[in-house]
Amino acid sequence: TTGKPDISREKSAELYEKAKLYFPGGVNSPVRAFKSVYGTPLFIQKGDGSQIWDADGNQFVDYCCSWGPLILGHNNAKVREKVIEVMQNGMSFGAPTALENELAELILKHNKYIEKIRFVSSGTEAVMSAIRLARGYTKRNKILKFEGCYHGHVDALLVKAGSGLVTFGETSSAGIPKAFADETIVVSLNDKEALLKAFEDFKDQIAAVIIEPVPANNGLLLQHKEFLQYLRNVCTQNGTLLIFDEVISGFRVGFEGAAGYYQIKPDIITYGKIIGGGMPVGAYGSSAEVMSNISPEGPVYQAGTLSGNPVAMAAGIAQLTELLRLGFYRDLNNKTEEFTEAVQRFATARNYKFKVFTIGSIFWFAFTDKDIRKAEDIDPASMEKFKKLHRELINRGVYLGPSGYEVGFISAAHTKIDLEKTKRAIFDSLDVVFRD
Ligand code: PMP
Repeated sequence: TTGKPDISREKSAELYEKAKLYFPGGVNSPVRAFKSVYGTPLFIQKGDGSQIWDADGNQFVDYCCSWGPLILGHNNAKVREKVIEVMQNGMSFGAPTALENELAELILKHNKYIEKIRFVSSGTEAVMSAIRLARGYTKRNKILKFEGCYHGHVDALLVKAGSGLVTFGETSSAGIPKAFADETIVVSLNDKEALLKAFEDFKDQIAAVIIEPVPANNGLLLQHKEFLQYLRNVCTQNGTLLIFDEVISGFRVGFEGAAGYYQIKPDIITYGKIIGGGMPVGAYGSSAEVMSNISPEGPVYQAGTLSGNPVAMAAGIAQLTELLRLGFYRDLNNKTEEFTEAVQRFATARNYKFKVFTIGSIFWFAFTDKDIRKAEDIDPASMEKFKKLHRELINRGVYLGPSGYEVGFISAAHTKIDLEKTKRAIFDSLDVVFRD
């Protein structure tokens, strides 16, 4: 097998040059700049079902799916029609609408892990608000997070581990005062010893532990249920709130997200992505008692001009209604399992150092032979292989997110034919990657 000739990126390159005049790095969110893969970023013009088209007219089967929200695929007719219907009456009022009730009811009726919810406009905002709520509720300051979990660009959470078993965070962005990072404790995933040590070192100071129960922003670092349960118990014993950041896993690994998947009840859950059907929506939820601390009922302030925006609510209502159909997740997950198993079988048969990690309709390709469960287990050098894989796949009409640390998503719109075509493209691309 030989490498495929590169597709034309002429129009995309032209648009990118222009974009660089307007935006830092030519983009409005960093990973989009294709810095860790080959070539200039592709400017996307159109999406329909499982397919996207770029400015040069190249067509791809899309496994990025807007980084997760599009569980029904692009431009789903039900979502589009509902949005258009609601838009006829205006796009924003900054006043309550019945649509907010409708989306909340859809969620709360089918989710036994939260009793009340508040809508915001992004995942970052949801997490930021959840952290404030936890601090306000417990009257404590410290937050514990895990190395390799991403929770949006919240100051206190743009923090990574230093060295040692338990560390104060080191900021992973300029512009974050050290004093903020000092309130954040970072430990490794899947490490009970470090967790216990942190609770000993900072007794009665930890307001919340936040975790992606399905860590999916630094590879797919699947945790044992037992570790999550342990975390739950330690939090309860210490009067610390457990926050599940389900911005990716929420409505993805099941309607009740990871809480439902593992049957573990966190104290606060954050949502984003799927909940808004492709529109900017986030949310956080908890028990009625904890949520009563939120303004105007309680002392923890949190607000938003576009919170509960009717058009965004409409998209969420239409999308979540589809997810509640009997067998939705079964079909989607089966389809994903078949796909990932076939890819793994191929790689194993060829003796390639390559593993597919998967849960629900999420998958991650890793150039490893290890069982990876924490950020430190990922070999940065293996990303060179991903870069080659990405280029080969793009040239074969398959679009993965432009970073080897990002996961892929399968949507209800991906057909058997799409997946067959993709498998073939992956097999050929792996042959090229491992030939060199
Ligand atoms: N939490 C998690 C787990 C996420 O994956 C993300 C986004 N990838 C966020 C928070 C932040 O969400 P947003 O980009 O909507 O601000």
